[in-house]
Amino acid sequence: MSTEKITEADKGASPDVAAALSLRVAELNLEVLETKTQLAETKLQFALKNEELESLKRQFHQKEATKFVENAYWVRRGTAWDGPFCQICYEVGNRLTHLVKLHPSANRPDDRHCIYCNRTFDNVKII
Ligand SMILES: [Zn+2]
Repeated sequence: MSTEKITEADKGASPDVAAALSLRVAELNLEVLETKTQLAETKLQFALKNEELESLKRQFHQKEATKFVENAYWVRRGTAWDGPFCQICYEVGNRLTHLVKLHPSANRPDDRHCIYCNRTFDNVKII
């Protein structure tokens, strides 16, 4: 890429010089666009790799401190267990989704529901 500047003298140049300058400006604009495209692709690849790294970190920590107790998973957070989490979401998608109580008036108080996969689990034990 040339770093030559267009000077005041160039502005009064002949039509051939003006055409050559216009062509050069167009070439430089194209190079800028190509560079921007390459930068965008690099940023996308970086974001994808970063996401993959975060996923692997989550998997590593979850494998280290996860247990399955009567229809649900629990994850150790410091000295306490967090949960219950959905069995299907965890085993199929490695996703930790808290199970929630059904409506308070439900006649099965130990049943829990996953709002992600829309499944209901009977008699989830709270540890
Ligand atoms: Zn689920």
